[in-house]
Amino acid sequence: MSRSRVNARVGALRASETLALSARARDLRAKGEKVVSFAAGEPDFDTPVSVQEAAVEAIRSGHHRYTEVAGTAALRAAIAAKLQRDIGVTYAPNEIVVGNGAKHAIWNALFTLLEPGDEVLIPVPYWVSFPEMARLAGGVPVPVTPTPGRYKVAAEDRERAVTPRSKLIILNSPNNPSGMVYSRDEVASIVAVAKRHDLMILSDEIYEQLVYGGARHTSPASLDEDARSRTIVVNGVSKTWAMTGWRIGYAAAPTEIAGAMERLQGQMTSNPASISQQAALAALTGDLAPAIAMRDQFAARRDLIAGRLKRLPGVRFTEPEGAFYAFPDFSEAIAHAANGVNDSVALCDYLIDQAKVVCVPGAAFGMEGHIRISYANSEAEITEGLDRIEAALRRM
Ligand code: PMP
Repeated sequence: MSRSRVNARVGALRASETLALSARARDLRAKGEKVVSFAAGEPDFDTPVSVQEAAVEAIRSGHHRYTEVAGTAALRAAIAAKLQRDIGVTYAPNEIVVGNGAKHAIWNALFTLLEPGDEVLIPVPYWVSFPEMARLAGGVPVPVTPTPGRYKVAAEDRERAVTPRSKLIILNSPNNPSGMVYSRDEVASIVAVAKRHDLMILSDEIYEQLVYGGARHTSPASLDEDARSRTIVVNGVSKTWAMTGWRIGYAAAPTEIAGAMERLQGQMTSNPASISQQAALAALTGDLAPAIAMRDQFAARRDLIAGRLKRLPGVRFTEPEGAFYAFPDFSEAIAHAANGVNDSVALCDYLIDQAKVVCVPGAAFGMEGHIRISYANSEAEITEGLDRIEAALRRM
């Protein structure tokens, strides 16, 4: 047998299921199928016009060259002001590294922190890229599962997963895929575990602004000076500003870590695109109204989808408080299926084939029996998609 030319680490990478399913929906649509896609991990809105105009102006006014590796001084100052305003934590510009999306910022953080074999505690259900990136960076992902029927991992669950090799706790609140938001007390109890075992915390706050009802986002960095010193805050403009394609995200961390991440980025990618940085600057320093209007629409869609999912027979559903995903539990429907559907992957295949509705199987997020339904979709599409799912379940 010939030797693989792809090294074992990259060879073992899974393709992102969420991106693959969005591509499948696009393909079916291109073939003329009337597909409802609930697979999207991104807002369906256009980037606000004021931001678009700032980008055009950036092109015309000569923002054509390399910028500082970690992002322009103006953008880092705007990010520092945003972090102060929204999470109440003070960061100096040299504690902020702007990269190509939050994804890149997370990668920079993991690759900077992890020694080979270091364990990373990842709460289940998790965003698909956390375990893959942790492994690629040399670490060992340790999925930490909540009590059955719950979607937040309690501090005790994390405590039990700690070993002498533990290095990092990941917190992603609001969570993709469950939409759960950790309360201040819950965040405090996770920080206490980190302090007790001298662990770092990677706080992925990309959905921070997308919280509904009474839910409030809390950053672990905001709790106290010790918490700040062991936390890397990751955020970006992708979700709040409907700017997924522009690829701007950032990490805020103590100087030692931010400096190392900057050196890493300086050898790997240099600065993120100069035009996108100017666009992000406009978003962060401009009027908040467009972002608030999008959030309000997500809130209305959440109510719509929650109302429908609660009434589906054989489905258990905990209402999401943030992000733009619902994560219903179809275990009972699957257990009673007469058509061979026996897990979340088979259920999603069945829904694509029979209902032309695309969802992402819970297995991709480490939680069988569930499916992720993105409500970054018009109310008409949500209603149509749920009608189809309901009808398909009856035939299952
Ligand atoms: N973290 C989470 C939890 C996400 O859901 C996503 C996007 N799917 C990202 C990070 C990446 O965001 P960005 O587009 O800024 O890279």
